[in-house]
Amino acid sequence: MKRISFEFFPPKTDEGRTKLLTTQQKLLAKKPAFFSCTFGAGGSTRDNTREMVGKLREQHADTAPHLSCIGQSREEILELVRGYRDSGVRRIVALRGDLPSGMGYAQSEVKYADDLVRLIREETGDHFTLEVAAYPEMHPQARSFEDDIAHFKRKIDAGANSGLTQYFYNADAYGYYMDALRRTGCDAPVYPGIMPILNVANLIRFSGVCGADIPRWLRSKLDDIKDDEQAVKAFGEEVVTRLCERLLAMGAPGLHFYTMNQAQASLRILDNLGL
Ligand code: FAD
Repeated sequence: MKRISFEFFPPKTDEGRTKLLTTQQKLLAKKPAFFSCTFGAGGSTRDNTREMVGKLREQHADTAPHLSCIGQSREEILELVRGYRDSGVRRIVALRGDLPSGMGYAQSEVKYADDLVRLIREETGDHFTLEVAAYPEMHPQARSFEDDIAHFKRKIDAGANSGLTQYFYNADAYGYYMDALRRTGCDAPVYPGIMPILNVANLIRFSGVCGADIPRWLRSKLDDIKDDEQAVKAFGEEVVTRLCERLLAMGAPGLHFYTMNQAQASLRILDNLGL
């Protein structure tokens, strides 16, 4: 059985929150292992994430908050972690996060995601399943590919259970990453992050920020059809379905969908895959 999970971001309005619960309802049809809800840079959605996770958990108990350590004090992090433990949350996506520009990384007490994993384990033992980020196309700030792989392994050695990748459109990047990771002796499962293609301008902007590569052939085709919403959706669905097929054939243990708070695209891709 392949593990399926869906990621949301916390909406800013009541209307958005209500809509998101409907989206979650629709996605329940795919019997996901878990849902997750992101955490804004530097803790900017701290309360929003916590409240949304509470609501999402009423419909699916395994809903994981993302938690990023950068820009927060050790005590602020521990307060969140204890609160999640006490309310019955069993999974956390543990991240370093990014800082709002102008803030220096040196100011942070808990600097990297492996430090965060260690802190959560020290405080709560085995209570949580911990997911951490992986970057088949390399994290933009990594010194080298090997360094980034070694760092992922450090997060697993610190006590994380599995990886969720940044999204990518080149299946070979995942294969190469997994081969390199296995050679280090790390056998943790790494779930590819899947970004359905919904809107070309947003995808390009977002990919620039997070360092995800859009291959030239894909970018060129998307440029040609970018003003035709239906054509983008149809082409995007085909491309991402094929990507998922290849990843699963390569042995990916499941898929993690960046839903952008929408159900339809992820559902259609999963239907196409027979999942
Ligand atoms: P880390 O694993 O700590 O790595 C950060 C960088 O530091 C890497 O380049 C690594 O190679 C390097 N590094 C690590 N340790 C050392 C060391 N000791 N010395 C030198 N370099 C080191 N961001 C959010 O703000 N909110 C979210 O909810 C969120 N969710 C995400 C979910 C997923 C599945 C993914 C893949 C990313 C998500 N992000 C989120 C983005 C993420 O926060 C950024 O990519 C961030 O820049 C790195 O976080 P990390 O946990 O990967 O950091």
